[in-house]
Amino acid sequence: MPELRPDALTGRLVLLAPGRSSRPHTTAAVAAAGEVTPPSCPFCGGHERETPPEVARTGDGPPDGPGWRVRVVPNLYPIVGGPEAGSGATGAHEVIVLSPDHGAAFGDLDDDQAAEVLTVLRDRARVHADAGRAHVQLLVNHGRGAGASIAHPHAQLLALDFVPPTVAVAAERFASTGTDLVLDDQAEAIVAGTGVIVGTEVRAWCPLGSVSPFEVRIAALGGGANIESATDGQILGAAIALRDVLRALSRALDDPPYNVVVHNATARPRAGGSGPPFHWWIEVVPRIGVVAGFELGTGVLVNTVDPETAAQRLRELLDLETE
Ligand SMILES: [Zn+2]
Repeated sequence: MPELRPDALTGRLVLLAPGRSSRPHTTAAVAAAGEVTPPSCPFCGGHERETPPEVARTGDGPPDGPGWRVRVVPNLYPIVGGPEAGSGATGAHEVIVLSPDHGAAFGDLDDDQAAEVLTVLRDRARVHADAGRAHVQLLVNHGRGAGASIAHPHAQLLALDFVPPTVAVAAERFASTGTDLVLDDQAEAIVAGTGVIVGTEVRAWCPLGSVSPFEVRIAALGGGANIESATDGQILGAAIALRDVLRALSRALDDPPYNVVVHNATARPRAGGSGPPFHWWIEVVPRIGVVAGFELGTGVLVNTVDPETAAQRLRELLDLETE
């Protein structure tokens, strides 16, 4: 039976219609098909000279030489920033290469590497917040179906000189309700049985208002408004939860394309006070649904896998891996 569900955290409206699809997991080849795999991948270890000069790295070795573990370079084709940027489009667009290994997605990283990647993302966000940018967006596009043009696993940072509408609206929603919508959403999910990882510091859950199959949200319980201010412990917990969720998703859906989005409050220098009420959180969206005519016409999204089913499957896979 279809069911209409509002999502208080995002303001979206979803029609859950599990009867529409008995086989939603049919995108096995989508992630790989048509992906650009250059004969000489610029993100692989040993190919450092094929990117613009790096702006940060962890690990060993000289700048723009091998030996690194995580490497940050300017995006060669920036959405914002660069010398030619016009008014409003100034800022920075960076690529964070997750590891020198071409085949290691975030879900394949060990604990140390996963934590190192998220630490680098937080630290780069700090650099741009401290430089006075208006907003820092962190994301991962995995697979061509999710917008990745280079197959080698990488994250991206966009430091903007304006506040995007979605960020402004999210802040207003927090302010007007006077409650922590992230923790409310998580608590509601756990009561309803759609918790996925229910730790004491970091939790992952399938939101009751999931707009796409196997959508997962992750938050550190003590997280503040900005990932820039996250503690090392919160970063470690969030990184391992994200890695575990992505690994389980890869097995549940046969390596689907996905987006990881860090929802973050507007940036401010860390000395700049507490800022607006917000709670940074991570959204994971496998791109196996299709936005078609009904969705374009109504703005209401249709999800064919209810979050109860998705959460149960992910919990089963997580349990299998810890045995
Ligand atoms: Zn590569």
